[in-house]
Amino acid sequence: MDCLFCKIIKGEIPSKKVYEDDHVYAFHDINPVAPVHVLTIPKKHITSLLDIQEEDKELIGHLHLALQKIAKQMGVDESGFRVITNTGKEGQQTVFHLHYHLVGGRQLDWKM
Ligand code: 5GP
Ligand code: ZN
Repeated sequence: MDCLFCKIIKGEIPSKKVYEDDHVYAFHDINPVAPVHVLTIPKKHITSLLDIQEEDKELIGHLHLALQKIAKQMGVDESGFRVITNTGKEGQQTVFHLHYHLVGGRQLDWKM
């Protein structure tokens, strides 16, 4: 499958790893919008939030617990941070493998 983030998981495209376990991979965004900008993805290819299935419920819960760990690891748990999942055209999703932007390390406003 021609998916950029599947290639990153396989190591076919290099990335700066932040966190990894059996089900989740997290890495620094190549074009950060804040001092902390980490992308967290399920290793299973899911195209977008709209493609999450009943059978993925445990995986998505697990991913949220991974986001907690990553926020702590990146040192933004006390100051605060934002998690974003862009979906579809008007949501400005550009990579069609479900991913969660974890952004922080500075004061955010609604436009980031
Ligand atoms: P989206 O726009 O789909 O919500 O987010 C895609 C994100 O992936 C963007 O923030 C973009 O900077 C990031 N990105 C695109 N290509 C690469 C890449 O090859 N490596 C990394 N680390 N991030 C990428
Ligand atoms: Zn993929």
